[in-house]
Amino acid sequence: MVNIALIGCTGNIGRQVAEVVRRHPQLFSFSALVCGRDAEGLRALCDEFRPRIAFCGENGAGEGVFEGCDVAFIAASGFAGLAYTLQAINCGKKVALANKESLVVGGELVMRAAKEKGVEIVPVDSEHSAIFQALGFRRGAKFKKIVLTASGGPFLHCTAEQLARVTAKEALNHPTWKMGAKVTVDSATLLNKGYEVIEAKWLYNADFGQIEAVVHPESIVHSLVYFEDGAALAQLGYPDMRVPIQLALTYPERLPCAPDLDLAALGSLHFERLPAEKFPCFALATEAGKAGGTTPAVLNGAAEEAVRAFLRGRIAFPRIAETIREVLGRIPRAEASSFGAIAEADRAARAEANLILYGH
Ligand code: MG
Repeated sequence: MVNIALIGCTGNIGRQVAEVVRRHPQLFSFSALVCGRDAEGLRALCDEFRPRIAFCGENGAGEGVFEGCDVAFIAASGFAGLAYTLQAINCGKKVALANKESLVVGGELVMRAAKEKGVEIVPVDSEHSAIFQALGFRRGAKFKKIVLTASGGPFLHCTAEQLARVTAKEALNHPTWKMGAKVTVDSATLLNKGYEVIEAKWLYNADFGQIEAVVHPESIVHSLVYFEDGAALAQLGYPDMRVPIQLALTYPERLPCAPDLDLAALGSLHFERLPAEKFPCFALATEAGKAGGTTPAVLNGAAEEAVRAFLRGRIAFPRIAETIREVLGRIPRAEASSFGAIAEADRAARAEANLILYGH
């Protein structure tokens, strides 16, 4: 029996983790269920799964929630996930990581702590799970380059004029994946793909020059690894997060989960260049990743505030990227040597973003 401490249990990923556990009650159980806000949703999950520990609150539950678990499943969204990831590592727990911000803002800290504690970090993001699979579940395996696939989001072929007028409702209508609101908007701006480049850098110890992104609108090929001899390995499947979620809990074993691909019914798959010039968030993220230190934390803090303003109908879509760029220009880089330094950069970025967005 694998005991799971699930952080972010009421969110989109958290609910799919619960589905996997529901399907295999003889293999998995929850030792702890934790959420940020949805007390009602938490209560329903507790009634069903009877965890020893339940917690709802935005200020963090502390390390106690990882007591007695075999796997810390970090599915919280946003900056809030980082503290939990670091706590789980500190407790020596294996981490199934669905919170991409943990690596985007705290990659250096997280990977160093994991190494010191001998803790495994298992990727759950579909692209990074695909890479993990293509590498035979060996994160340290040699490769030439990584190619991340991107659906391109709902606005892939919009003109600049059209992008200036798109609404939050349109941004939330993702063509292939059903996800939470923040990551869906991040997919529409391609900020998400920039985040995934940074994630790949930390997870697979890659140089930024070894990581590329290509648009693949059908979301069937979930990413590829290229090797020295010209061979490339990919993982394919219908877009269904339950596959990487379940695999993070069972690998190298596999259990039934999703329907087989029907290739003839799919017909053809398409690939095209990533239109980075039209979606400046992608380059903002990868440049912040290259700058390192607290720069990605500033980028993320600004992005979380700007996306919130866009979802509330307060700013136009292109203002998301502009706000991030302005905040990055105002806050100098510092070393990301501690959680405190990263949290301070996050706080400063949000304050600066709110000044730009609302004038206070
Ligand atoms: Mg992804």
